[in-house]
Amino acid sequence: MQTHFTDAQRAAPLIQSAEAELRKCVHCGFCTATCPTYRLTGDELESPRGRIVLIQDLLETEAVPSARTVAHLDHCLSCLSCESTCPSGVSYRRLIDPARELIESRHRRPWSDRALRGLLAWLLTGRRRFAAALRLGRGVRPLLRLAGRAWAPLAALARMVPEAPPADSALAPGVYPAAGREFCRVLLVTGCVQPALAPEIDAATLRLLRRHGCTVVVPAAGGGCCGALPHHLGKAGRAQQLARRNLVAWGEHLAGDAAVDVVLMTASGCGSQLRDYGHLLADDPAARELARRVRDLSQLLLELHARQPLRVIPGRSAGVAVAWQNPCSLQHGLAEKRAPVAVLEACGFEVREPRDAYLCCGSAGTYNLLQPAFATRLGTDKAEALAATGAALAVSANIGCISQLRTQPAALPMLHVAELVDWATGGERPHTWAAEASC
Ligand code: SF4
Ligand code: SF4
Repeated sequence: MQTHFTDAQRAAPLIQSAEAELRKCVHCGFCTATCPTYRLTGDELESPRGRIVLIQDLLETEAVPSARTVAHLDHCLSCLSCESTCPSGVSYRRLIDPARELIESRHRRPWSDRALRGLLAWLLTGRRRFAAALRLGRGVRPLLRLAGRAWAPLAALARMVPEAPPADSALAPGVYPAAGREFCRVLLVTGCVQPALAPEIDAATLRLLRRHGCTVVVPAAGGGCCGALPHHLGKAGRAQQLARRNLVAWGEHLAGDAAVDVVLMTASGCGSQLRDYGHLLADDPAARELARRVRDLSQLLLELHARQPLRVIPGRSAGVAVAWQNPCSLQHGLAEKRAPVAVLEACGFEVREPRDAYLCCGSAGTYNLLQPAFATRLGTDKAEALAATGAALAVSANIGCISQLRTQPAALPMLHVAELVDWATGGERPHTWAAEASC
């Protein structure tokens, strides 16, 4: 499509990349078929094609966005299903991200929205404060539920607080040598939200990787949040600040004789953000180098399996049916659709994919807190689709999806790929796997 940016506007790198994407769009509308919000509403302005028109207008005119435009763009999950579908190769993330930044700088939201978004950007990016908030939330859960009747985001937050504290604790920094011959050195970055919500995922990852020839480096405190949550809230400056802090904290592990081969975060939403560091910090070669080494756990496991087959315990996982919930950050953000299924099948599981597997579960970072109406409908649909496969349990690769789906009425037991593969290859049975699940 035609664009009308001025030369002054084109001087900004964000506008240059946005203009390149706008010009690719031919308005064919293929993307509308796989957009969750268009499927829910049937409204063109709740579709990628409609949003692209709104974004073009916003970026070209630099006007103060109307409340209506803001609402349509806020409803977007940034799930990137539209990117996977687009035959013209439009990278929608290069459009929605600058639009969110522009909204953040030009639009004055109601005070309650500003307060909630500010609180989330602060609370969810600090491991210690998020863990403290969870402890507090557990203590005052009945009050949260009561207050949540009047304020939907609070109700959504209350549902996220696990009933009991996790059995494991977050991994201690250090170098954990491979058991036997070393094939690979892995920087395992634990992030901010997952260590508090589900530390068992990284504990399983550590056991699993060491068992299969990886030396695992857990970096000392200093780095942390990947920056995805503030980035999707339109706070790109804060996301860049967090990315720079991580590059400093992890830099010693990326160079020299003991440099790691792979950078891993077991939440695919975080992995997708790390893979984009080269764009987020376009002027920093270290950011590109880090992004080059980022893998999803399933990709790494498939590489290890190709080198030496995974050591599956006979008779343990063979024939156990699992429903695979592919996070949007993995299938659309990292464009990885094959590796997790291949790894689970290599372990002997019978993998069943739910209907409409490309659709988002409604978690999407902070989306389930900020847009609970859409998020609840998407979460309910996804949980029902997983249960309809007839599998005994469901497996995913992102803590956001796991937390969102665990709270749905139709929920199957939800595990992370790391927990299942760890169990299949010699680990303990995951304690979050309900006793009634067959195995
Ligand atoms: S599918 Fe691609 S080219 Fe077609 S309208 Fe959507 S974004 Fe534009
Ligand atoms: S990112 Fe997802 S919700 Fe947003 S326009 Fe694309 S498909 Fe629709």
